[in-house]
Amino acid sequence: MIRSAALALSLLACTPRTKPVPMAATPSPAPTTTTTAAPTSTPSPSPTTTTPPAPTATAEAPRPLLSPLVGAEARRAEVRAVLAELVAQLTPAQSAKVKTIPLVFDTDPNEVNAFAGCQKGAPYLAATEGFLLAVDAVAQTRATDELFGSKTYDAYTAAVPARLAKKTGGGPALPAGSIPAAQADDPRRLSRAREIFDDVVAFAFGHELAHHYLGHTGCAQGQAATPGPNPAVLGQLATTVVPWLNQPTEIAADTAGCFNTLNAGKARRPAYAWSEQGGLWLFDFFGRLESNAPLLVMVGFLSTHPDSRLRAPIIKAAASAWRAEQK
Ligand SMILES: [Zn+2]
Repeated sequence: MIRSAALALSLLACTPRTKPVPMAATPSPAPTTTTTAAPTSTPSPSPTTTTPPAPTATAEAPRPLLSPLVGAEARRAEVRAVLAELVAQLTPAQSAKVKTIPLVFDTDPNEVNAFAGCQKGAPYLAATEGFLLAVDAVAQTRATDELFGSKTYDAYTAAVPARLAKKTGGGPALPAGSIPAAQADDPRRLSRAREIFDDVVAFAFGHELAHHYLGHTGCAQGQAATPGPNPAVLGQLATTVVPWLNQPTEIAADTAGCFNTLNAGKARRPAYAWSEQGGLWLFDFFGRLESNAPLLVMVGFLSTHPDSRLRAPIIKAAASAWRAEQK
């Protein structure tokens, strides 16, 4: 979607589930590639293989273990790195329109939103700290459940509405103690959480980026880079939703963002390949919040995006079309 006088679109969308994590349940896969897994922030794109994408990959090669993202700065650096990988897979014309667009972070840990917009005719992409904390919580719990067969994601999503409903309720951050102590430091869990975080972020920003290069915002012309809006005013920018954000533009952004995510995922193999799964995880999370009516107006992301449950089919269709083209 988009917001405002300084328009902002907000995002979302792609995804079906595909890959079981190879590292699940077994002792950690030894690092194999020579590509050094970025210690904290920069996933390395390695456009090398020509191997056709496996539609239902279940037997992937072991992947290097990734170090955890610790702290706000590490998460932001990771988002920037993911965004760079997405832009690298756009067509030259699309890339020219968006490669200089600033990514700005609102430090509010209780606000959950991510969007694209324009301020004074200049494009920007934005995310709130709360959005990154929510994605991190989803990643931490999903990774735990994949490895240990637990239900920490269900517990988190059951608890988070009440935490979001009050500004002092704790926000979207994962409550302390959500991950059993015995599992918290498991390197496989930490690595998998980072993969999931990246996958969700890739879809989310693939969607927002698409609003710019598809011309929905109307302000991304490949102009010289600007610093972007002052983070202090992002909250205000995000509160004014632009009515032109409509179903056709959302579907277009979901579809293009999904393709972009899949292309970037393919290019980074043998590192973890992003897919529509990231979007599906994102939709599942927001879909659970959508069942809580008061949150529809309290959570920025919900008030500025279409019903998450309607978007999964769009992304699944896009992913199927993408895979058909790979054959
Ligand atoms: Zn959107």
